[in-house]
Amino acid sequence: VLIAGSLTMELGVADAATCVLWLFPLFVVARRLRAPIDWALAAVTVLIVLDVVVRNIVVYGTGQGSDGIESFGESSYAFFMQASSAILGLLFSLVALASVSIDLLGKYRRQAEFDPLTNLLNRRGFDEAIARLRTAGPLSGSMVICDIDHFKRINDDFGHAVGDRVLVGLSALLRRHCLASDLIARYGGEEFVIFMAEQDAQAAFERSEAIRLQIAASDWRDVGLDRRVTASFGIAGMGGENIENALERADVALYRAKSGGRNTVVAADVVSPAGPSNVTPLPRRARRR
Ligand code: GH3
Ligand code: MG
Ligand code: MG
Repeated sequence: VLIAGSLTMELGVADAATCVLWLFPLFVVARRLRAPIDWALAAVTVLIVLDVVVRNIVVYGTGQGSDGIESFGESSYAFFMQASSAILGLLFSLVALASVSIDLLGKYRRQAEFDPLTNLLNRRGFDEAIARLRTAGPLSGSMVICDIDHFKRINDDFGHAVGDRVLVGLSALLRRHCLASDLIARYGGEEFVIFMAEQDAQAAFERSEAIRLQIAASDWRDVGLDRRVTASFGIAGMGGENIENALERADVALYRAKSGGRNTVVAADVVSPAGPSNVTPLPRRARRR
């Protein structure tokens, strides 16, 4: 308004400034566009800039520009500006709203499916992930339950905060020892479940044994615990059966590992040199859960 002498120039300057205002944030986020909705938002931004540029070229290029405020209302420029601004403004608002909603839904879904302490899947997330795998075909692999031994004593002797740090440390250890195809979850307080896809009970047994040894050999002094931590494992190989059945058999195997002295891996249907094998279901009252 201060610099440009005519309305045409004024509108030109305003439009140029508008383009800069839209392009600057687009430039800032361009490398961070990931989700389709982000790309949609960027595409609408580009459309808005194109609209301004094309409108100016068409209106002024064809000599239809208005230079007086009196005739501005009837000018083609004003008509196209208002029509396209209304349509693109509405489109941008809807896409922005969709983007915020999708972000929020993702956040709530994460909160519902992940454990905030360890950032592993929680029970609900694990069940959902298994259900998603199931839609792709019959499940084949092994179900492993890992339960920290005498964890209550750690809480009692060192405090809840140290107990929490052990849970976090053990989760990190499990993550390091798991494959990309494994699903790891904190299924209960100090109980973790790992679904080892495409791994038979023998393979799951060997991997669990390696994890058990790593846990027992870990030094926990940096989390304030000058004591060894051990865990027991129960494993059930599964082929197409439902997850409840596999978890129940793994739980029975875990029960045997606990009653056999803890710090052991027991697999249903695997002959182990160290522990019980061919686990048959116990009566319900004997089970831990
Ligand atoms: P076992 O060897 O038979 O598994 O004995 P345990 O002491 O590990 O098992 P028990 O079920 O008796 O105790 C589990 C303890 O885990 C009790 C509970 O206070 C603790 N716990 C559960 N969730 C959390 C948590 O989020 N943080 C901490 N610090 N402790 C937890
Ligand atoms: Mg325990
Ligand atoms: Mg337990």
